[in-house]
Amino acid sequence: MSLTAERLDRISPSQTIAISQKARALQATGRNIISLSAGEPDFDTPDNIKRAAIAAIEKGDTKYTDVAGTKALREAVSLKFKRDNGLDYAPDEIIVSTGGKQVIFNAMLATMDAGDEAIIPTPCWVSYPDIVQLAEGKPVFVPCPQNNGFKLRAEDLEAAITPKTKWFILNNPCNPTGAAYSAEELKAITDVLLRHPHVWIFTDDIYEHLAYDGFKPATIVGVEPRLKDRTLTMNGCSKGYAMTGWRIGFAGGPKALIKAMDKLQSQSTSSTSSVSQAAAVEALTGQQDTIKVMVEAYKARRDLVVDALNACPGIICRKPEGAFYVFAGIHGCLGKTSAGGARIETDEDFVVALLEEEGVAAVHGSAFVAPGHFRISYATDTESLREACARIKRFCEGLR
Ligand code: PLP
Repeated sequence: MSLTAERLDRISPSQTIAISQKARALQATGRNIISLSAGEPDFDTPDNIKRAAIAAIEKGDTKYTDVAGTKALREAVSLKFKRDNGLDYAPDEIIVSTGGKQVIFNAMLATMDAGDEAIIPTPCWVSYPDIVQLAEGKPVFVPCPQNNGFKLRAEDLEAAITPKTKWFILNNPCNPTGAAYSAEELKAITDVLLRHPHVWIFTDDIYEHLAYDGFKPATIVGVEPRLKDRTLTMNGCSKGYAMTGWRIGFAGGPKALIKAMDKLQSQSTSSTSSVSQAAAVEALTGQQDTIKVMVEAYKARRDLVVDALNACPGIICRKPEGAFYVFAGIHGCLGKTSAGGARIETDEDFVVALLEEEGVAAVHGSAFVAPGHFRISYATDTESLREACARIKRFCEGLR
């Protein structure tokens, strides 16, 4: 009898984590490696947030909380939705979980039956398909072409909807492309969704604060309030507040769905950490100025990386509106041989040779269901980015 369950065969380990581990292993051998593979801010968590956590520990806020989160945090999330998105979610329409990832996990596991479909625009974040499959659902991929800014076309969404569609998952701004939708762009999508009342909508807005040049990413319910009774609006503290390790994600949605997710969470992790929740109250209700500082820094880095990549032979890189990734096309590099003698037939060959020959870790597009590309996270210091881009250029110039 096999040790592992059949359900485990449906998923694969996170490929972004796998690349980061390979980079760390090379580093341990003494190689100079620049890792641009992780989706994690390089900024430290702001001091006011850390102080709130320390105060919570000292006050004895160290016990289990309500499964859906403390009253104080759910009120803070309610305030955040109103302030940042113009949305009305009462505290009992909100759940707090162990990172945004657990929100997705809870939503899919609580609602999907075998064979139910989830529409996922691609390129997509690596975890959506695997979580859907764990829930016995079927991911239905809808490609978003680079020449449409990696954005979903309304007619492609319409064509993908079937009687079995349970969820439509939208990530705005998007990991890995950084593409973001304005209210106007989302309107075309919400018009389609209005015509299909059996489809539930999951909007992952975790990168909402990271948008540049004055771009304001919109959210589904803000654009079309008539979709509120079948939309789960997800967000969290990990990216915008540089709090990846604190594990705070949250969502607002219809009470029946929140209750179902609460039931599932009560039998898995219970609440997330009481101390992290106190920190998140401060993140959401305290000063918001640190976000602006981080956004300014990310914007400068984005511009640097996009310009540098477009100067590499064989690479085409669109300037994204948000998040902290660029997703570059490498079709011009395929079918060649690197200076180190590696055949570059696929995007995976490209990132492996780039790591081995130049010590730059990036993630291949196939990991995001979009072959022929690679993703760079620019959530790292400018000097490292400059050096990494110089190495990528040398690598591309060496292709024959
Ligand atoms: N959604 C997207 C699109 C992400 O990129 C990530 C993290 O990489 C998450 C959700 C998960 O966030 P968290 O760390 O809060 O679980």
